[in-house]
Amino acid sequence: MTLDVIARALRDRGLETTLLYGIDDLDPMDTQSLLTGDAVERSLGVPLAHVPDPAADGHASYARHSAGLFIDTFDRLGIHPDRYYWMSEVYAEGGMDRYVRIALDRAQVIRDIYREVSQVERPPGWLPVHVVCPTCGRIGTTLASDWNGETVAFSCLPDLVEWARGCGTKGRLAPFGGAGKLPFNVDWAARWSLLGVTIEPCGKDLATAGGSRDRADAIARRVFEREPPVRVDYEFLNIRGQKMSTSRGRGAAAHEMAEILPPDQLRLLFLRPRPNQAIEFDPHGSDAIPRLFDEFDRLAAAVAGRPFRGELSPDYERVFAMSLPVDADAAVEAAAYRPPFAHLAFLLQVPGADVAARVEAEKGMTLTDRERAILDERVVAARAWLDQYAPERARVAVHDELPSTVAELDAQQRAFLSALAERLTSDGAGKSWTGDDLQGAVFDVAREQNVPPAGAFAALYSAFLGRANGPRAGWLLASLAPDFVRERLRAAGDAARVRP
Ligand SMILES: [Zn+2]
Repeated sequence: MTLDVIARALRDRGLETTLLYGIDDLDPMDTQSLLTGDAVERSLGVPLAHVPDPAADGHASYARHSAGLFIDTFDRLGIHPDRYYWMSEVYAEGGMDRYVRIALDRAQVIRDIYREVSQVERPPGWLPVHVVCPTCGRIGTTLASDWNGETVAFSCLPDLVEWARGCGTKGRLAPFGGAGKLPFNVDWAARWSLLGVTIEPCGKDLATAGGSRDRADAIARRVFEREPPVRVDYEFLNIRGQKMSTSRGRGAAAHEMAEILPPDQLRLLFLRPRPNQAIEFDPHGSDAIPRLFDEFDRLAAAVAGRPFRGELSPDYERVFAMSLPVDADAAVEAAAYRPPFAHLAFLLQVPGADVAARVEAEKGMTLTDRERAILDERVVAARAWLDQYAPERARVAVHDELPSTVAELDAQQRAFLSALAERLTSDGAGKSWTGDDLQGAVFDVAREQNVPPAGAFAALYSAFLGRANGPRAGWLLASLAPDFVRERLRAAGDAARVRP
């Protein structure tokens, strides 16, 4: 998301920009992978590009299947890199051969950098290359030595790493054309040279002092003789306090979120804070999802010049525009009618409510095609929120019969309910039955009856929901049939009146 926005900003300035996204699929399958049973035994240590697709749904490999989840999600978020590249292909095509040779020739410099930058001591004969064992196909289990300018000696060791067992093969091979790969830091730096990278973001796990990025920067300068790209450090998105990550089996959250939330809101989630600020997002049992929609609507209101509440950051117009798909017109999007998320979540719980008709009534005009599409997206999101995430207090049910809680209302509240029934009757059917109008009527009648607003709202919730709180009162009334509302208000006022 960060890179997508940087690329857009550069293009806005008229700079030619290519956005690349690479997949490190020559890396070995390690214990983070989501394999079970004999697949673990068979595939641990094998390059991800050479492991069969566990889902067997037509992908060429485990790597293609897993990366596909991300690529589909990016697509849905409006992130369209100019090119995806797969390191298994780049190596196989010989693209990295030149850099493998330089790294092997300058192995001593790389060992020095590991020691000086990261205090990591590599043994004297250690070489910066991992070869693929020609017998068992593993890359995580081999150790290379003795570079003679053409080949390296290698051993596939049973106990090199704890998470995979090598087969014991020893021999010599030329580590080119995909027969070997550079270790991560060296590979990273080599790729900057190969692809001409000018900006490279860096997750905070790699951004520590003396960490991977510092090593890669030093390798770029001292081994490949090139200035490293501009560095953009980014923090993580934490779901329920934990890093969103496929490798620990929670990454499903990434594409699940993208299935639930429209791209505009999901983009805003990422773009709201600076990249180096962690994003804490806990959708479970909370209002995190409704608040995200509300924030988007607030920005839209500010951009369109409608009234809004609260402070805005100085760059709010930019944040709003960057939250939209690249080809969207920000002015048109800001002006579009968007039903408040909480209202929609409530409407969806009212049996028989015609959601589109209610939303159209609130707008006071026919919805445009775009507004229909927005409504459809929001209905999906609100349903998912109600089904999977919403706290109990968000679940409301309008009682068919007068709730017994009305017995607890005081004389003032009863008078208020009766007076509101009168008002809504005398105003007649000619007046529009919208949330805003009804909210206004509630406030007016409460004032006339000298009932504090809190007492008036509590009386309404009691009469319809049998509880002391609920959604915005105007929405509640507007979502129901006018006759039902008038009758219920009268009954609640009367029923209470006959009590001592
Ligand atoms: Zn082997």
